Amino acid sequence: MQDIVLIPGDGIGNEITSSVTKILKTAGAKINWIETTAGLTAYEEKGNPLPDEVVDLIREHHIVLKGPLTTPVGTGFRSVNVALRKEFNLYANIRPAKSLPNVPSPYKDIDIVMFRENTQGLYIGHERWVDDEHNHAESIAVVTRDASENIIRAAFEYAREHGRKKVTLVHKANILKFTTGLFLQIGREIADQYPDIEFEDIIIDNMAMQMVMRPQRFDIVVTTNLFGDILSDLASGLVGGLGVTGAANIGDDYAMFEAVHGSAPDIAGKNMANPTALLFSSLLMLEHIGQEDVAKKVRYAVLEVLANHKDACTKDIGGKGTTTTYTNAVCMVLEDKF
Ligand code: NAD
Repeated sequence: MQDIVLIPGDGIGNEITSSVTKILKTAGAKINWIETTAGLTAYEEKGNPLPDEVVDLIREHHIVLKGPLTTPVGTGFRSVNVALRKEFNLYANIRPAKSLPNVPSPYKDIDIVMFRENTQGLYIGHERWVDDEHNHAESIAVVTRDASENIIRAAFEYAREHGRKKVTLVHKANILKFTTGLFLQIGREIADQYPDIEFEDIIIDNMAMQMVMRPQRFDIVVTTNLFGDILSDLASGLVGGLGVTGAANIGDDYAMFEAVHGSAPDIAGKNMANPTALLFSSLLMLEHIGQEDVAKKVRYAVLEVLANHKDACTKDIGGKGTTTTYTNAVCMVLEDKF
């Protein structure tokens, strides 16, 4: 049995984490869930969006499956997601986007794995008002050699381990010459150590256009925090939307698995949320903890439901079903097949 901290999260969090834990149990995952609360739910219950007990549990058990957490826009507390990534130095945010059978999308044959630097850039939260009237604000972006080396090396190592051909580094070094210029320089240095992997760099604005025009040309993509946040949502959009893309946040000692999407307040409590994104995140978690056999079974069941039980799927991917019908369909395939 593997202990895993479970944070169901806000909005659709309870619905999708209940679905995922049910599917993983049906598939025979050997997991002892240790449930706790963070985000808006914890703020409303305890006055603190990131209670000490959550940090202590993660420090003790090292692996987390996390539902989405709401962050107030413009005012209020700062992102708990960002705080957790910094606290546990989860420097690599890995976000695969792969075309799926029968999921509506104008694109085919997409298989991109995005590596987003997860602890620095503009997300360090060093913002300040420059004058009293709040008419002038500043935000500081930080890029260091250590953090850049960590994420870029993680991308090349992943490429090598998974037999991938190319790493594309995305930057804005023509304008942000120091920060993303340093990131690009380190990328070139590390690329020299991996002559078996093709390397290219591309400016972010061109990248945005290329991902819409010719996304199939990308394989592994590595970039800084803000660019990676935006491009990984774009990549989700290429393969059917935020309901189908999972993510891993990996550091040297800790790992946290979560969907790319947020708490989706517009559909919370309506049994409409697609749990596939969190489910795919949980498969990355199963692979990380050595339960690849269970991950394979669940992936098979999901692909089978997408291909042959479309009516049971949620509406965001063209089905007629609910979170519940989809969950039951995946469980039924698992029970019938294995
Ligand atoms: P969102 O990702 O919650 O929703 C964007 C759109 O995608 C909505 O229309 C939503 O209904 C849809 N969607 C998202 N997940 C879905 C799913 N599983 N199934 C079906 N449809 C789905 O983005 P937002 O509305 O900009 O953000 C809402 C809140 O989530 C904000 O407070 C934001 O800060 C937070 N957020 C958290 C995380 C995280 O926890 N890692 C990530 C992004 C946003």
